[in-house]
Amino acid sequence: MIHLARKNIQNLKPYSSARHEFKGTAKVYLDANENPFNNGMNRYPDPMQWKVKKRLAEIKKVQPENIFLGNGSDEPIDLLMRIFCEPGIDNIITLPPTYGMYQVSADINNVAIKKVNLTNDYQLDVDAILAAVDAHSKILFICSPNNPTGNSVDRNDIETLIQSFKGIVVVDEAYIDFSSEESCIEFIETYENVVILQTFSKAWGMANIRLGKAFSNTQIIDLLNKVKPPYNISELTQKAALLAFKHRDKVRESVATILRERSRLEDNFQRYDFIEEVYPTDANFIMAKVEDPNLVYDFLVSKGIIVRNRSTVTLCEGCLRFTVGQPKENDELIAALKEWGT
Ligand SMILES: *Cc1c(COP(=O)(O)O)cnc(C)c1O
Repeated sequence: MIHLARKNIQNLKPYSSARHEFKGTAKVYLDANENPFNNGMNRYPDPMQWKVKKRLAEIKKVQPENIFLGNGSDEPIDLLMRIFCEPGIDNIITLPPTYGMYQVSADINNVAIKKVNLTNDYQLDVDAILAAVDAHSKILFICSPNNPTGNSVDRNDIETLIQSFKGIVVVDEAYIDFSSEESCIEFIETYENVVILQTFSKAWGMANIRLGKAFSNTQIIDLLNKVKPPYNISELTQKAALLAFKHRDKVRESVATILRERSRLEDNFQRYDFIEEVYPTDANFIMAKVEDPNLVYDFLVSKGIIVRNRSTVTLCEGCLRFTVGQPKENDELIAALKEWGT
């Protein structure tokens, strides 16, 4: 896949940090111009985050070398664009309605976007996607479960596209831990053009520490490492992740609660005539089509409840997106909807 990367990236000699050049342990570190007085954070962090990657590799059944960690998933999204897309020449393919960051990142990098809408039931229009591909199409972004619709997209369709598309296929699995479907992570062993994105921001409950994960073959991971800022993940974040690995039971418990609450909200949503459609979801949110979405949105705001107004998004006309909250918060949402509906 290296041949797909921009020439300047292929030829790039990456910055070599002090912690990168000397990898052993020593008695006295006088190499990085740090303040020598120990306050628990005076030293630069591990630039490759090996402790976190080793533990994560065990959990995900991959090798540590197949993992890239970024400042949120948004960092690998941006880096992939900068690695593979020549500004003003190459393009990416996105599949609306979907996560907004692919477009923003492309716009920032002056990379053109080809948009191929999802089908009416929010699945991949495989033929239309392949028809949109041209010689400069470098990355295809697939989001599954998809944001803002919530559904998973068909795994066979994803595999077909990986096999047929000559560029990089990014499968964004930010919500995979809420899904009844399997992750596509095993595709990284079979195909050389796949990157799987996951994150600590949703099911892991750590949006605050900004830690995103990319899984791929070592060639693509090496390119990401070459281009990233040397110390992109702070030691505080690495420590928080290592601590989270010790409390996986808590994560599982909260996911189970969120899924139970999601069903309860879905059941409740069905009761009101002003809620015209509740879309199937595999994520920690529910998209629903409502009558007068702006009025419902404003009413909820007046009750102190903020949801996401997606009513002007292509194929989501009239829709609001409800994140599943704590049981008490969901009670409040249900009470407010009841008040509006009667
Ligand atoms: C929330 C979300 C992310 C996560 O972004 P982070 O930068 O890791 O917080 C990625 N992709 C999608 C589709 C999301 O909804």
